[in-house]
Amino acid sequence: MEARKVRTRVAPSPTGDPHVGTAYMALFSLCFARQHGGQFVLRIEDTDVARSTPESEAKILDSLRWLGLDWDEGPDKGGPYGPYRQSERKAIYGGYAQTLIDAGHAFPCFCTSERLDEMRREQMQRGETARYDGHCMHLPAAEVATRLPNEAHVVRMKVPATGTCIVNDRLRGEIEIDWAQIDMQVLMKTDGNPTYHLAVVVDDHLMEITHIIRGEEWINSAPKHVLLYEYFGWEMPEIIHMPLLRNPDKSKLSKRKNPTSIGFYERMGFLPEAVINYLGMLGWSMPDGEEKFSLQEMIKQFDLSRISLGAPVFDIAKLKWLNGRWLRENLSDEAFADKIIEWAYNRENLLKVIPLIKERVDVFSDVGPMAAFLVDGLPAYDESAFNTKQQSLDEIKRVLQFAVWRAEALSDWQHDTLNQLFVDLAEALTMKIRDVLGPVFVAISGKPVSPPLFDSMALIGPDMSRARLRHAIEVLGGVSKKQLKKLEKEYAGLAA
Ligand code: GLU
Repeated sequence: MEARKVRTRVAPSPTGDPHVGTAYMALFSLCFARQHGGQFVLRIEDTDVARSTPESEAKILDSLRWLGLDWDEGPDKGGPYGPYRQSERKAIYGGYAQTLIDAGHAFPCFCTSERLDEMRREQMQRGETARYDGHCMHLPAAEVATRLPNEAHVVRMKVPATGTCIVNDRLRGEIEIDWAQIDMQVLMKTDGNPTYHLAVVVDDHLMEITHIIRGEEWINSAPKHVLLYEYFGWEMPEIIHMPLLRNPDKSKLSKRKNPTSIGFYERMGFLPEAVINYLGMLGWSMPDGEEKFSLQEMIKQFDLSRISLGAPVFDIAKLKWLNGRWLRENLSDEAFADKIIEWAYNRENLLKVIPLIKERVDVFSDVGPMAAFLVDGLPAYDESAFNTKQQSLDEIKRVLQFAVWRAEALSDWQHDTLNQLFVDLAEALTMKIRDVLGPVFVAISGKPVSPPLFDSMALIGPDMSRARLRHAIEVLGGVSKKQLKKLEKEYAGLAA
């Protein structure tokens, strides 16, 4: 058989800020495609209608562009396998689900969420893995035919009850997973939308993807995909599960512990070349062991077998060190100056901040200190910046920690929602809003004078705001594990 032309893809879900994990998968997918003279596709997986937003999609595309991870086909560029946004491919999936039903590989399921909850509860009580019990698989055809037009239902795939599935992973070899561990996955939801599992298999097939590079958190889903390819009689792409990026404490990289959005690194003033270099270095090494390399150099030397399966820790200090090398070794003074103008003092940035400060400045020399919050990373100040006469250090840290947690849960990040967040928090804590906002003001602005707080937070964005709140807690000596447990408990009991 003629070898297929290599095609890889990255398939982000536009449900939040562009994540460094997406860039990591995109980087390896791009390198692999380029190394083989193949193509690299960007597909937007927005089947989760409630959580997907066009803003998030736009930010993901911008961030990948900023990093220089250029795709050959995608929602913005089109291409012969489009559309590249799953919401625009909605009409495609139902037919494939029907094919599976007709062949006896899938079935409509009418079970209510109450019945499913009850079933899971009983299974857990018996110490079993929670798994669909096959109830609707055995319904008589005549009953199914009468219920179908009138009752809400999903489509589920059949999964063998016994035996083992073998997943071939280029890096890990044969991975054995018992079928008994695998649920009869829902393929089509009640609203007629496909789930990730059906859409990803159908689209990877239709888009002729030959190699799927994704995170290791998907290993447990692989048997479902293997089975779907088998049911459809399609050739399975090769799967490569990359090791997950980790927080310094080795847990999965999460915004609770580390800024994870690419926008944060852009705002901190990292060079895209250094971020790419660092992501490359986290999973892979150059044959000569050189740590500093460009995307072009990585593509030239790329070899999957040099990917290491160890748990790569995303360490901002190391990234900073690497960025410093890029700045010093690759930028002339002229280029350095140009980059600074482009990054900070460009018209677009200034136009965002001028409306906030115009009322408060008399001469241009007032602008610098007032606008510094926008270009600062983590501002420098000490304990004395806080009003410790009014509030104890522990009280201040408590407020800041609660603010961080509330901010983590805020999906719509803008002036009014931030305002509401703090009104609600003050009410839940039965504190004056002033006492809640005081510490937050210092954390965000680092200064006694600054533009209005919520506008500032909206401008610098969620990741930078959270990073500054967390930084303030550290400046005040941090919270011990024991204190954190106590705060978590208290927080859980707070009114929403
Ligand atoms: N949409 C999935 C995600 O956001 C893609 C996973 C995959 O690569 O199949 O992680």
